[in-house]
Amino acid sequence: MGFENEHIVMLPFMAQGHLIPFLALAKQIQQRTNFTITIACTPLNIQSLQSTIATSSNNNTIRLAELPFCSTDHGLPPNTETTENLPLNKMINLFAASLSLETHARRLISGIFEKEGRPPLCVISDVFFGWANDVADSLGTVNVSFTTGGAYGTAAYISIWLNLPHRSTHKDFFTLPGFPERCRFDISQLHPFLRAADGTDSWSRFFQPQISLSAKSFGWLCNTVEEIEPFGLDILRNYVRLPVWSIGPLIPRETLKNSSTSDISVSRQRAGKKLSFPAEKCLEWLDSHGSDSVIYISFGSQNTISETQMKELAIGLEESGRAFIWVIRPPVGFDLKGEFRAEWLPQGFEERVSKSNQGLLVHNWAPQLEILSHKSTRVFVSHCGWNSVMESLSQGVPIVGWPLAAEQAYNSKMLEEEMGVSVELTRGVQSKIVGEEVKGVIDLVMDESGRGGEMRKNAAVIKEKIRASIKDDDEEKGSSVKAMDDFVAALLSKRQESSKSSNSIIEDWREALQKL
Ligand code: UDP
Repeated sequence: MGFENEHIVMLPFMAQGHLIPFLALAKQIQQRTNFTITIACTPLNIQSLQSTIATSSNNNTIRLAELPFCSTDHGLPPNTETTENLPLNKMINLFAASLSLETHARRLISGIFEKEGRPPLCVISDVFFGWANDVADSLGTVNVSFTTGGAYGTAAYISIWLNLPHRSTHKDFFTLPGFPERCRFDISQLHPFLRAADGTDSWSRFFQPQISLSAKSFGWLCNTVEEIEPFGLDILRNYVRLPVWSIGPLIPRETLKNSSTSDISVSRQRAGKKLSFPAEKCLEWLDSHGSDSVIYISFGSQNTISETQMKELAIGLEESGRAFIWVIRPPVGFDLKGEFRAEWLPQGFEERVSKSNQGLLVHNWAPQLEILSHKSTRVFVSHCGWNSVMESLSQGVPIVGWPLAAEQAYNSKMLEEEMGVSVELTRGVQSKIVGEEVKGVIDLVMDESGRGGEMRKNAAVIKEKIRASIKDDDEEKGSSVKAMDDFVAALLSKRQESSKSSNSIIEDWREALQKL
């Protein structure tokens, strides 16, 4: 394309699962259009993005801007600017604190307006930042909401928050406005905070207005692919009644080639996270195992399970006899930044599995993309965070769901009921899972002749659809490439329309002056 003078400002929410796809989106828009992109966030998040931008090429027009933020002003621990390592009871403080960014974002965007003589082409804000609509509007531009979740999960999440349907029934099951009758939801799929929400609590007071405001945006961007979520996209579009552009997968293109990735640099390009274990070592370990033999276990960047569940998961894994990589963090109730303690696992577990080469425990942060794209990885035991889902499916790796928070339980439901690529092991941190059940589900998914084989076939079909969506050659453009072009075209035509109307206001004003 080539509209070098256009400028887009992005406002991500402060969490790895949001920063990573926002940065990937910025790179994708920038590569396709050459627009200047400014990503604005709190100082510590900007610092970690800085290292990422510095190491990746082709970054000359991605800029970073700090929005002032002091965590202790909001009842958060010192230097806390993301959901990572944040105790659950403080999570709402971070959401509430994000409202303080409005003033600073307004100042930043009006500064850009003043310097460039016109407002940015648009603001792309996190779906949790509904306030960005007012900022954009007052500065003569439009706001586009970006949901880092999938279409089905996002639609369920917003419908549940806006309607609190579980409050109007005494049953455990309920139907959801916007969803057909057959998609019944279960109270256990709601996070305890949401279960208790009644519209007056601090969670409702943040989510309800912010989501309602986001539904007034110019349109929504969704990190999904048209062909893999036709049902979810229908629901989301009907619900928000806005254009929804499916521009996923927001994953480094190197990992979407048809071979295992050996490009270790992809993990360095992910929101500046430091690996707690060298990626090379993980790959060597995977190389020492046969094709399609390894189970990968991770609960994302901010969630963790209980101590009892951790022990039972360990028992099940060991008894299954299968090879595994487990990204392990302190259990619920312990300092998430604290030292790892062997007593959280069955006695001698780590030594045994490491000696026999059955298991590799990665403490804290693993090179997830490299692991998922390695030929030895067979299945992902996941909390069903949407980035993890897209990363897994784009490699054709089926999922064992263990949803913990946010919209993860709805993703898990969709993956099992609509896509047939997953089986849910359990949900939440309170479930009483035992090792035998873990082993049972592992046996089921590893069994090629039964449901495991079906899930794998379905995941392979989804993988091909995801890869087809990013095709970009002369004969063929994939749906996500087309959606990105449509999105940019809609913005440019809106820009033209607004400049025409502001020109005609000036003309009318001139005419009126002449008549005087
Ligand atoms: N991630 C990673 N290594 C880890 C844990 C997470 O690279 O050890 C990345 C993962 O690849 C994904 C993101 O962090 O891109 C987590 O996002 P997701 O939506 O899956 O879950 P969240 O952390 O938001 O709950």
